[in-house]
Amino acid sequence: METLLLKGKPVSDSIRLSLEPRVQALIETGIVPKLAAIIVGDDPASKVYVRNKARAFRKLNCESQTYQLNSKSSEKDVLTVIDRLNNDPSVHGILVQLPLPNHLDSKAILHRVSPNKDVDGFHPENLGLLLEGNPNFIPCTPHGVLEILRHYDIPVSGRHAVIVGRSNIVGKPMFALLAQKFEMGNATVTICHTRTKDLASFTKQGDIIIAAAGSANMITGDMIKEGADIIDVGINRVDDDSEKGYILVGDVNTKSVMGIANSVTPVPGGVGPMTITMLLVNTVTSAEKCVELVAGW
Ligand code: NAD
Repeated sequence: METLLLKGKPVSDSIRLSLEPRVQALIETGIVPKLAAIIVGDDPASKVYVRNKARAFRKLNCESQTYQLNSKSSEKDVLTVIDRLNNDPSVHGILVQLPLPNHLDSKAILHRVSPNKDVDGFHPENLGLLLEGNPNFIPCTPHGVLEILRHYDIPVSGRHAVIVGRSNIVGKPMFALLAQKFEMGNATVTICHTRTKDLASFTKQGDIIIAAAGSANMITGDMIKEGADIIDVGINRVDDDSEKGYILVGDVNTKSVMGIANSVTPVPGGVGPMTITMLLVNTVTSAEKCVELVAGW
């Protein structure tokens, strides 16, 4: 069987292209979609992520402003910035870059972001709406996975999707989406995690496998069934003797599933490019809601 590589870039490019006229229409009404990104501390990876997000926003003629707080900032300091941004009508999306330093209560901080500006989709109100089947903002990475499945016409309805990982940002919302009664859902979904006994006995049943465990190369060819469609969300650094000193690999051992799987997303270049794109989608949508609000007055 020839295994199709599901690259994220063509999907991401076509979604960004479809956003251009929407952004232009907003600018013509005097609204520039704007993201406010909060970073606390000096985590180099967080800085790179936020810089990449800012670049993508600028490329689409949107704004992105970064609020850099020092690593010793108190919870009150962070909440004060969030409150200010919640009340700033020029800001349509607020993102708190994770991980936060250990002394801060991430939950309390994420819960403070207004659900109407929660473009990451992490607020419990938005997660509840997603479970209910009436989403406000869909978390970006699971949303990106759906768009890859849609773009490549991978059937979902009636198939068995096996998700490996139960985090609030990937595994759980992925479950809520794939099990939902809508055109990209209607799957039978199994969710596996660190306490799952005999993981392979579940992954072998998956028509679709979503690997989101954060464990390098853990899903191998002998753990999947012939013809499975595999989405590899994992991004793991593995040391090597290259100039950088490491390479990025997914949770799936891509080589070993070639010829067995129907399709697989590469790492890098699969789900990765989708996450920022879906953040753009959520921020533009949030700005459009402001126009609708003003028009309704
Ligand atoms: P997390 O650590 O919060 O959650 C990992 C989950 O996987 C946990 O629920 C755990 O129970 C499960 N798990 C871990 N090892 C397992 C094992 N051996 N068997 C079964 N279950 C196991 O991670 P996360 O934030 O959900 O991210 C998961 C991976 O996806 C990471 O590699 C992360 O870097 C990547 N990620 C990528 C993107 C992207 O844009 N492509 C976005 C978010 C996360």
